Amino acid sequence: MGCLFCNILEKKVPATVVYEDEHALAFRDIRPVAPTHVLVIPKKHVAAVHDLDDAHAEAVGRVLVAARRVADQEGLTKDGYRLVINDGDAAGQTVHHIHVHVLGGRSLTWPPG
Ligand code: 5GP
Ligand code: ZN
Repeated sequence: MGCLFCNILEKKVPATVVYEDEHALAFRDIRPVAPTHVLVIPKKHVAAVHDLDDAHAEAVGRVLVAARRVADQEGLTKDGYRLVINDGDAAGQTVHHIHVHVLGGRSLTWPPG
């Protein structure tokens, strides 16, 4: 079994990849909630924000830079977009490999549900 997103990284599970670099992979969410819904993950497994420490600082920064590139590629920069990280059960985290949701292509309400 193992981690679903590690399996996507290892190409054991198919995904529609939209961006990849040395540190991060970005692919379309299987159940999109906006016209653009991409997940950006670090290539090194870390389960959640609550597990981060200093050693992860560069990896997390790289994920944000990758998210910015995805937003540019998807044409979201002019109108704006939202980055979301769900951490833990109360936030609805279902996959325990840190991921940033890149959401855009429609108006996004605040506060989120
Ligand atoms: P979370 O709820 O943990 O913040 O987000 C997990 C996201 O992963 C969800 O939006 C869900 O739709 C997406 N997801 C779950 N399984 C798969 C899969 O097999 N492939 C892809 N591309 N996305 C998935
Ligand atoms: Zn993983």
